[in-house]
Amino acid sequence: MSRTDLSVFKFGGASVKNAEAIRNVVSIIKNNQLGNLVIVVSAIGKYTNALEEVVKTHARGEDGRSLLQKVQSEHYQICLELFGESHQIYDQLNDIFVEADWVLDEPPHESYDYMYDQIVSVGELASSRILNAFLQKNEVGTSWLDARDIVKTDNLYREAWVEWEATDAAAKEKVLPLLEKQLIPVTQGFIGSSSENFTTTLGREGSDYTAAIFSYCLDAKEMVIWKDVPGVLTADPRKFDQVTKLDRLSYREAIEMTYYGAKVIHPKTIKPLQNKSIPLLVKSFIDSKGSGTRISGDVEDKYPPMVAIEEDQALLNISTRDFSFVAEHHLSQLFKLIAEHRLQVHMMQNTAISFAVSVSDIDDRVAQLIKAIEKDFLVQVERGLELITIRHYSKEILKSLQANKVVLLEVRLRNTIQMVVKNVPLMVRKNG
Ligand code: ADP
Ligand code: ASP
Ligand code: MG
Repeated sequence: MSRTDLSVFKFGGASVKNAEAIRNVVSIIKNNQLGNLVIVVSAIGKYTNALEEVVKTHARGEDGRSLLQKVQSEHYQICLELFGESHQIYDQLNDIFVEADWVLDEPPHESYDYMYDQIVSVGELASSRILNAFLQKNEVGTSWLDARDIVKTDNLYREAWVEWEATDAAAKEKVLPLLEKQLIPVTQGFIGSSSENFTTTLGREGSDYTAAIFSYCLDAKEMVIWKDVPGVLTADPRKFDQVTKLDRLSYREAIEMTYYGAKVIHPKTIKPLQNKSIPLLVKSFIDSKGSGTRISGDVEDKYPPMVAIEEDQALLNISTRDFSFVAEHHLSQLFKLIAEHRLQVHMMQNTAISFAVSVSDIDDRVAQLIKAIEKDFLVQVERGLELITIRHYSKEILKSLQANKVVLLEVRLRNTIQMVVKNVPLMVRKNG
């Protein structure tokens, strides 16, 4: 098969959030299917969050089963609207949910992350079964494909790394024959499997990445992600007014913005696409005829100011206890520990005897890191901060973003400003 043929479409949770949304997805697929197609789908709506609650509840030794049953019955409800009462989808969903039930039958597993992946993966398994069955009901020739047979990973549960060689071989072996039979594989985002065949996940919001993995391995001509926004905007429309759509964007610009918190695309998505010069289109499932944003290698336009915000930052101020310099050997010791604790560094700065670093405050990782370094260093931490990244900044935009904020750390490069900030409560003057 040549690369002029294949498109990979990724539908996120919002695009399949209820029966009406799933009907809309089917009509998009019917209207856009010009050549070969692979479909990657996320869990319906916000069910990944709901399944995370099941895991947390079970881990506390409480009853996660009733929460799981609620998720299951809400999936059945959507199916009732799409398929009526009698359809094989109910057995298929039963088989998926029963596996999560078995995990809940056991006492909490000693590895939280392992248990998480076995339960949370149910969301994508269920949504892909539903979308696949509904496409078939609408006479689209599809084949449900278990992404765990393709996306091979290590066993770093909740943040698994792709084993590219095995994945590449499996994608070619399992997907190409389906395409040759003119079938559309419908598969899950976000999930994979370890060499011991346990389910793994690629990190929250990882379905975009899955679609890029399939695009890369199958030499797609394009990848399309269907969103509830017209394309990539100059900032998150939930946080800013007067955002505008970018028609074209370079891979470099896209990776910089998404790495620093533009939630519209998972940051890992860009690399595999860039490596094979596969364009990424971000389009709206609400207005599917809209032009969207095209991300590719052949643009280096002038850009308007763009803003990305990463929340839940912790700023660590680390200094030596004996006034010795923070020299290379200290930094390498600190970075080793930061990597071991799986903290994502977003910004850093050092002085003679101190080192400031802003990291994402996930679970209890910051507390664990502090424990590990306290013996050798003095550590101060400030939490609940925001990291603001502005590319192609102007004075006006900088001023407006700094209003009512205290800037704790700031780095300026040629066309990028980054600052770690904290909100200050507005001071209102008393009358009289
Ligand atoms: P999906 O359903 O595919 O998982 P998400 O909800 O994760 O989609 O991502 C889409 C959302 O990303 C949009 O609704 C928007 O609020 C947010 N977003 C954040 N930054 C941007 C940006 N720069 N451009 C467009 N959308 C953005
Ligand atoms: N369902 C997963 C999540 O919500 C993966 C994804 O949607 O991309 O994180
Ligand atoms: Mg998402």
